[in-house]
Amino acid sequence: MDEIAPSFLDHWPMKDRFRSLPEAFYAAPAGDEVGSDPILIHASPPALAIAGLSEEATGHPDFVPIFSGQREVPGFSPYATVYAGHQFGHYVPQLGDGRAYVIAQGEGPDGNPWEVQLQGAGRTPFSRFGDGRAVMRSVLREYLCSEHMAALGVPTTRAGTVIATRERVERETIEPGAVMSRIAPSHLRFGHFEYFAHTNQTDLLKALMDYTLSTLFPHIERGEGEVATLFNEVVESTADLMAHWQAVGFAHGVMNTDNMSILGLTIDYGPFGFLDQYKPNFICNHSDHHGRYAFEKQPAIALWNLQALASALLPLTEEEPLREGLSRFAPRFKSVHFEKMQAKLGFNTSQQGDDELVASLLSAMEEGQADYTQTFRGLGSIADGEISDHWLAGFAAPAQPAIRQWLDAYRARLLEEAPNERAPVMAQVNPKYVLRNWVAETAIRALEDEGDLKTLDEVFRLVTAPFDDHPGQDAFAEPPPETMQGLSVSCSS
Ligand code: AMP
Ligand code: MG
Repeated sequence: MDEIAPSFLDHWPMKDRFRSLPEAFYAAPAGDEVGSDPILIHASPPALAIAGLSEEATGHPDFVPIFSGQREVPGFSPYATVYAGHQFGHYVPQLGDGRAYVIAQGEGPDGNPWEVQLQGAGRTPFSRFGDGRAVMRSVLREYLCSEHMAALGVPTTRAGTVIATRERVERETIEPGAVMSRIAPSHLRFGHFEYFAHTNQTDLLKALMDYTLSTLFPHIERGEGEVATLFNEVVESTADLMAHWQAVGFAHGVMNTDNMSILGLTIDYGPFGFLDQYKPNFICNHSDHHGRYAFEKQPAIALWNLQALASALLPLTEEEPLREGLSRFAPRFKSVHFEKMQAKLGFNTSQQGDDELVASLLSAMEEGQADYTQTFRGLGSIADGEISDHWLAGFAAPAQPAIRQWLDAYRARLLEEAPNERAPVMAQVNPKYVLRNWVAETAIRALEDEGDLKTLDEVFRLVTAPFDDHPGQDAFAEPPPETMQGLSVSCSS
């Protein structure tokens, strides 16, 4: 008889938390798992490590069947969850994990919870009209961006694996299918709370709150005020997340309440985009006709979404503390965002007029159609006294007077800082590489059209070490070449 290699499963520390909740919260997947021949395309070892898996585990014969949803983890019954949400401002009473389900839940050595959720592995009772599948293109975008955001220091769900199903999926065209594994302490959304509030199931809403408090916010003292305290923390982590997004130039594209994490993580990467030229009204989602989710509107939309969450929590607490919680959003966002912008300018101290300096730079960038990422990245050497001709050339002619004036003011301001070398420090907050649409598209095209994995690998390497120089790869730090400008991306695929 063949010897069976010891499986990663033998040491996978399962802890089935969610099924401690009543059955109204979840349902088993429909069982239309992908066909016989899936293969692993890429894996992110640091993401898998969060779920207690070593890189070697990916080579085990059990791995691909489990991470493509063909086989269950022994002793763990996979489940999809029910939620609702406000989509583009309108309440949709039932959504839920239509193409996602959790295949494993556990706890790290530090006691931190984690769960692994498959995306695109088949239908669930919440699929509505969907096929439960995902296409390679959208899986690769989420995979690359999740791991990129983590490397940028932006709170996010993680991505462990990309598996090609070798099945065709029908969208506007026929496309190759894929399954991704998402990893996070929890995938709970604002919409989970909305569902139980809007269906007047207060007991279940309370059960969800208890679960959330005990598993995800164990530091909150239980008893009176617990809901308000939790809400305050959600307000703050969401404000912080917006500060991260705005500072790094990330537009999510579909900030519906069902795409808002209760943990303040970036979740549900769809038609996201990083700014190329600085355009505050940048709309990355082709289906967002009115620009509800335009780049500059994200903080206000986050607050709108928090109001929807507050309404959902009303059955559990007084109104006043929730109002008080909401009032924390604006000052929190403002101060965290401002701190980040100061760091991007290389300031260690805070001086009067710094806010105007940030605002006037952004306004010159807008007028001068300057590239957001490159402008900040280039500022490091200027702060250390290098000549600025190349940097100035990044601004179109109409903005030249404004940016030259700005540069004088910036240099004068730097004199108030200790005379340290600034470029290396600034290079740690101003990334050289962001996952621009054209860069993601290049990796996708190479894989889909030519079966070339090397480009994906290279892009993964760049975007997961985005502050490093990576000599020889400068082209990927550039704005889109002419042939790849204005790529459009829309909702679920
Ligand atoms: P999203 O736009 O990805 O946030 O998805 C919105 C809702 O549609 C969620 O409830 C998803 O689970 C569901 N959904 C999206 N794509 C599919 C699909 N291919 N099959 C089933 N449900 C889907
Ligand atoms: Mg979603």
